[in-house]
Amino acid sequence: MSTTSPFPVPQYLAKLSFDGLREWFSSQPTSVLLSLAQTVCANTYGNKVYLRGLIEFSNHCFCDCLYCGIRHSNHKVERYTLSEEEIIAIVQRGIARGLKTFVLQSGENRQDLPETMSRLLRRLRRFANEDIAFTLSCGVYPREVYREWKKAGANRYLLRFETSDEDLFSHLCPGKSLSRRLQAIEDLKIEGYAVGSGFMVGLPGETLDTRIQNVFLCRELQLEMVGIGPFLPHPDTPLASHHSLPIEETVRMTALLRLLLPWANIPATTAAGSLHPRGREMMLEAGANVLMPNLTPTEKKRHYLLYANKICLDEDGWECLSCLSLRVASIGKSLSFAKGESLLREEKR
Ligand code: SAH
Repeated sequence: MSTTSPFPVPQYLAKLSFDGLREWFSSQPTSVLLSLAQTVCANTYGNKVYLRGLIEFSNHCFCDCLYCGIRHSNHKVERYTLSEEEIIAIVQRGIARGLKTFVLQSGENRQDLPETMSRLLRRLRRFANEDIAFTLSCGVYPREVYREWKKAGANRYLLRFETSDEDLFSHLCPGKSLSRRLQAIEDLKIEGYAVGSGFMVGLPGETLDTRIQNVFLCRELQLEMVGIGPFLPHPDTPLASHHSLPIEETVRMTALLRLLLPWANIPATTAAGSLHPRGREMMLEAGANVLMPNLTPTEKKRHYLLYANKICLDEDGWECLSCLSLRVASIGKSLSFAKGESLLREEKR
């Protein structure tokens, strides 16, 4: 698969088996991984960093994932759902500011969502033309629902598989299975979405082998977008007493992803910025090429805490834009307001 890739995957890496890759990866200092990944990223995306406006439109969730701060059993969470008018106003303001992609994220398994999301998308499409992309990140739904949302105006979908270890997945996400999640990813592809997935780095119970398997799974799925970030413990979850791995581990995994999936859009995630003050910059230096300013209204943001110490809670998302611009300039990159399709999609055109 990747050996026939039109992108400059270092060929010796693309051909390595699991054991070969693990050995190679473990023996490389981080500085070497970074410089390889930077070269590949520069060849494919130049020094551009694409922007996606993130709207956390609802924290209602009927799942009970052990790691997640908005899990159903966390009764301390004040639940909210933004109204259609609020969401539309944010998107309109974003478009006026030049943003071209909006990510609508929420908790999972909501009975009402199939219908309300379709209605919202249709309203958004009345003023957002095809230059604007809508990405959904709302969890697993039946394929027919994905089809309806696509018809109503969605273009892309983010659904992390979280971990490639089936047993660990079942343990961390009671009542859910990795195979169902992977089925949903296939459904989304069939329905024509640009699909993103990814995983957390450092989940309690995972090993380096799991992480390398995670990267292999991303490649096998031929993902257009890959979102990863460190696991961060939330005090009101069963994993409260566990610790994150140092940021370096997320940075190394980012570099490996860029080397094996040169075409992918890879965000420098808020979780990385929450673990380390330069976490997002470090991910960008390791081959990430996307940033997601959080446009959720400030008074709601603090109720969407998937993990502790989340950054930018007191800032307005619009202030984030100028902050991000300075941050990327500090590492010699610049923000791009382009729609930013993955190169895999461009290639298929
Ligand atoms: N309900 C949607 C969106 C989930 S929130 C869905 O199921 O896809 C987005 C991502 O946040 C999750 O996929 C997970 O990878 C990440 N996340 C959740 N809890 C976290 C934690 N404690 N630390 C780091 N990342 C976390």
